[in-house]
Amino acid sequence: MTKDNKNWLSDVAALGCVVCRNLGYGESPAEIHHIRTGQGTAQRASNKKTLPLCAPHHRTGGYGVAIHAGQKKWEENYGTEIELLEQTKRDVEELRLCRI
Ligand SMILES: [Zn+2]
Ligand SMILES: [Zn+2]
Repeated sequence: MTKDNKNWLSDVAALGCVVCRNLGYGESPAEIHHIRTGQGTAQRASNKKTLPLCAPHHRTGGYGVAIHAGQKKWEENYGTEIELLEQTKRDVEELRLCRI
């Protein structure tokens, strides 16, 4: 893993759950979710295809709440992985600018 990739993952986690923030719940401690949309054989940039999700929005929340309990329904509720990935990229850039 490159240094840039490592920093990326820690910055993504530091943002807090993207769904909780969008719902106005504040910054929930996040786990790293690797997105599956559009994942073919090319795995090179996969560390940048990650979303910060809290445990309920990631695994434990049940159908319609946890992405691993049913992605289609989850995306209807909270937005697509790709939309949230774009948001996460912008948020990481902002976080990094704040440190300069
Ligand atoms: Zn959450
Ligand atoms: Zn996941």
